[in-house]
Amino acid sequence: MTPMTSPKPLAELRALPHLSVSQLKTFIQCPRKYALAYVHGVAPQFRPIALAFGTAWHEAVGFHLTASTKAQQAERNEVKTIFRERLSIAVEGDATPVLFDDDEDLGKVIDHGIKMLDVFLDRLPIPERVIGVELPFSLEIVDPEFGDVLEVPLIGALDALVIHDGRPAVLELKTAKKKWSTDQLEYDLQPTAYAMAAEQLGYDNPDVVLLVATKTSKPDVQIERLVRTKADRDDLAVTAQSVTAAIAAGIDHPIRGWACRGCPYAHACR
Ligand code: SF4
Repeated sequence: MTPMTSPKPLAELRALPHLSVSQLKTFIQCPRKYALAYVHGVAPQFRPIALAFGTAWHEAVGFHLTASTKAQQAERNEVKTIFRERLSIAVEGDATPVLFDDDEDLGKVIDHGIKMLDVFLDRLPIPERVIGVELPFSLEIVDPEFGDVLEVPLIGALDALVIHDGRPAVLELKTAKKKWSTDQLEYDLQPTAYAMAAEQLGYDNPDVVLLVATKTSKPDVQIERLVRTKADRDDLAVTAQSVTAAIAAGIDHPIRGWACRGCPYAHACR
């Protein structure tokens, strides 16, 4: 893959034809779900609370990382306020209803998120310098065997790009019900795209540090330094080429299983 020129703001990138890691994963999980969401433009029946939670989490942690002084970083009340406000807005201010898990409501989710933030901020490695948060990228995808260039770029945004221990590092922020499995750590496509995006921005051979805040009753943080090689980059390119070809061919078969129970598009899946 070859780096593209300096990326535009993410909103502009999204307005143009593109592919994202999230779209790739959706297609791989269920081609019917991809078709309903991205080809037919079906409105989801609900938004899982995990999505709203993740958005509020990114904003709060991003605020913390970009605080201009150590004293501001030590002051957590503002971070918690941002989390509380963003999550409330995401849940109450959106036309699409948010679906909570069993026995949950907004108050309980906020309270647990605040506990998670305390644990997370205690464990978050303090970088020497924060280059930026939510940095957009746009990558040209080239087939590693035949050299074909994908018609659309792979776009996204780095959660955070920092200098830590004298080295460039991408921080990937996740919230999840449990820790990532060994297979996720090894094969997930997003860290691969993030490593490439950092290189595009001029930071060669960056570390990719995964920070998973778990929503377990006793919150925890999984911190992993991920390794992504040329083989991983080639896998991402081949996957993107293959999925794009399948989409163009109209492949949209359903994958029925456990994921259907929490699928926001099940109402339109016949
Ligand atoms: S209900 Fe199941 S098969 Fe249908 S789109 Fe959703 S995940 Fe796919």
